[in-house]
Amino acid sequence: MNRRADLHSVADQAADFLESLAHRHITGTGTPESLLRAMDRPFPESGSPASQVIRDLVADVEEGLTGSAGPRYFGFVTGGATPAGLMADWLTSTWDQNAQVYATSPAAAAAETIVARWIVELLGLPAGSSVGFVTGCQMANFTALLCARNTVLERAGWDLAKNGLFGAPPVTVLMSDCGHGTVHSALRMIGVGSDQILEIPSDSEGRLKLDALEDAIHNASGRPMILSLQAGNVNTGAFEPVGAVADLVKKENAWIHVDGAFGLWAAVSPDLARHLVGLDRADSWATDAHKWLNVPYDSGIVILKDPKRHRTLKTSRCDYAGVESADRRDGSTWSPENSRRARAFVLYALLRELGRSGVREMVERCCSLARKFAEGVSHVEQLTVLNEVVLNQVLIAINLPGHGDKVALHDEVASRIQSEGRCWLGTTTWKGRPALRVSVCNWSTTEEDIETALGALRRTV
Ligand SMILES: *Cc1c(COP(=O)(O)O)cnc(C)c1O
Repeated sequence: MNRRADLHSVADQAADFLESLAHRHITGTGTPESLLRAMDRPFPESGSPASQVIRDLVADVEEGLTGSAGPRYFGFVTGGATPAGLMADWLTSTWDQNAQVYATSPAAAAAETIVARWIVELLGLPAGSSVGFVTGCQMANFTALLCARNTVLERAGWDLAKNGLFGAPPVTVLMSDCGHGTVHSALRMIGVGSDQILEIPSDSEGRLKLDALEDAIHNASGRPMILSLQAGNVNTGAFEPVGAVADLVKKENAWIHVDGAFGLWAAVSPDLARHLVGLDRADSWATDAHKWLNVPYDSGIVILKDPKRHRTLKTSRCDYAGVESADRRDGSTWSPENSRRARAFVLYALLRELGRSGVREMVERCCSLARKFAEGVSHVEQLTVLNEVVLNQVLIAINLPGHGDKVALHDEVASRIQSEGRCWLGTTTWKGRPALRVSVCNWSTTEEDIETALGALRRTV
């Protein structure tokens, strides 16, 4: 075994993959059967040399790897990985630190302390807010909403830590009827049922209507109340008005949460920040780093204005873990996990690599490319842009006379573009209409990539 030579060889294979993103088939060419066939072996009775295992792995997964890390993947909301973020991710695995408590990795604790401060500053959130590093925005929403639930119940006189959830007064959650699925999942995980969720009708862009919200607040007045708002609707990119909502619930003892999985990063741009007026009046914010911040999976961030409320996430600590203090951070206090990956090294590297201006430039470039995409679409007679392109998301309707089944038409166009292999667009249903869905989210996407995607779309239609 020559560990150094093996690591160099893996670095070369990684570089081969990164170079292949320029031309690799974007969906992968494998089928479920061919991938299983390639990887399936009788369970090995004895082991194999590491270099052999890795060589086989690289070869066996090849046809099933998508080009989602590359510049022409416009599906879901998908970021890539910048050079410093990727390299720091390798080192994070190499160092194999447990970011549970200070004692298990002082370096990871220091990185979390610094990155927490930087992120709060970068997003313009209240100084002193607490930050947890989690796996993704699902867990960020879960963490924030759990602390929200604990808080509104405590204000209603219910000692949750002592009495548990059974028998507690019901918590009412107000959110738009376009809320993200992970908010619903988070609510289910924290014991809020569908009868306790008041879905407020939304406008054409998916923002809850303020007059309907006002009525709902009036009807629920006095009850433990959580409002879950969106910064960046997953289809349209639209923002809900945090400041105006905060005004409406001023008299209630309500908690305001903002799901800003990708949209929260608009705060780094002075131009886009107009969508986020009153953002600092919320109590909690959830976002992703593995989407628009372009670090490798998995990396989400939860932020709470009041660290005391954040601490209601967990019970007592292990006796052997030492004592947390201002300069000895325990990462697991702020996240649902206990033993944890030291995710902050990657964020630290990424934020140093880009700086404030680099993050801003990346976010603004993606928005400008999304507008360019929409502009290109508007010149094609059979295509209509369905949303106001305020961020990085574009929804496109296809109108081909004679095609009765609109859903099948959109699916067919998306699937033909995908199987050409150059770019990936998805489909969705927006306000009852089928649409193609484009999300520009990768740090390396260029105007040429947008032209390529537009070309594929025009040809296919
Ligand atoms: C992606 C997304 C989430 C969930 O994030 P994960 O990183 O997949 O857990 C939540 N809310 C919105 C608006 C999203 O776009």
